[in-house]
Amino acid sequence: MNIIKELGAAKVVGITGHIRPDGDCTGSVLGLYNYLKDNAPDIDVNVYLEQPSDKLSYLNGFDAIKNVIEPDKKFDAFIVLDCSSIDRIEPFADGFKNADKTICIDHHISNDSFADVNNVIPTASSACEVLYDTFDAGKVSRNTAECIYTGIIHDTGVFKYSCTSFHTMEIAGKMMQMGIDYSDIIDNSFYKKSYVQNQILGRALLESVLFYDGKCIFSSVTRDEMDFYGVTGRELGGIIEQLRLTDGVEVAIFLYETGDNEYKVSLRSKKEIDVSRIAACFGGGGHIRAAGFNAKGTVYEIVNRIGEIIEQQYAQE
Ligand code: AMP
Ligand code: MN
Ligand code: MN
Repeated sequence: MNIIKELGAAKVVGITGHIRPDGDCTGSVLGLYNYLKDNAPDIDVNVYLEQPSDKLSYLNGFDAIKNVIEPDKKFDAFIVLDCSSIDRIEPFADGFKNADKTICIDHHISNDSFADVNNVIPTASSACEVLYDTFDAGKVSRNTAECIYTGIIHDTGVFKYSCTSFHTMEIAGKMMQMGIDYSDIIDNSFYKKSYVQNQILGRALLESVLFYDGKCIFSSVTRDEMDFYGVTGRELGGIIEQLRLTDGVEVAIFLYETGDNEYKVSLRSKKEIDVSRIAACFGGGGHIRAAGFNAKGTVYEIVNRIGEIIEQQYAQE
């Protein structure tokens, strides 16, 4: 796909990504915004996204992000990035559905091809990688390069997850050649933690529980704890990674409370278990080694159910 050709004569374009936008979502949305601003100046480009973390505010176009669609705004084309299903673009679904043409650029294996044109590459590390391949290489500016690099480092865990390929590194190398400050991007947008984030990380690790012969680990954070430390769910991102690194662990599970008996659940695995299949059993989705879902019930009910599914997967092998 060549994104500018795909847009044809479209003059008013909307761009969005999934709810609770992460680095890849924000990077791909703003990467496309910058690319179109630079190379298709006649297009009225509009970015709609739930407010991303301020850690990503160095990305050019961050200030242009709108959190609501203007009433009666009509789009010739609407592009969704890093999003596997239409229910994950609320509250922008109406703008998307009413557009003349819809395009999805994504890398989720669970993507259900909800747009008119779907460019979905499940083997790609990130939506940014898929997006970059829709660009003319010579037309990528430094601003766009910062966005693409950011998305890649976030979805590869700084080039370490199994989704990282030769092609991923090739694109990252090209972005480095554009003169971006890659060390700062990695430290400030990926590794940096606030003091309270470190405190709640420490607490979650302290209270983590190993089970299934040490192959699984889980931990959870309640709303009261989040209120006490003054953190939101989005700021708990690094906890699941540290749980996953535990020696001997195959599957890490992290839950945080979003309502009464309601949890956001993150799953990560190392080599054997397909966590996207577990998430799908709960109506969620994701990738083989990183997936998530929302569930009702107590922590123990949810973790027990996940444990049963893990046992079934081991039994099938
Ligand atoms: P997370 O644990 O939230 O970092 O999510 C890991 C991966 O699973 C990401 O690629 C998400 O896009 C995907 N994911 C998380 N939650 C859901 C959900 N409720 N539905 C579909 N995919 C999800
Ligand atoms: Mn994402
Ligand atoms: Mn992604």
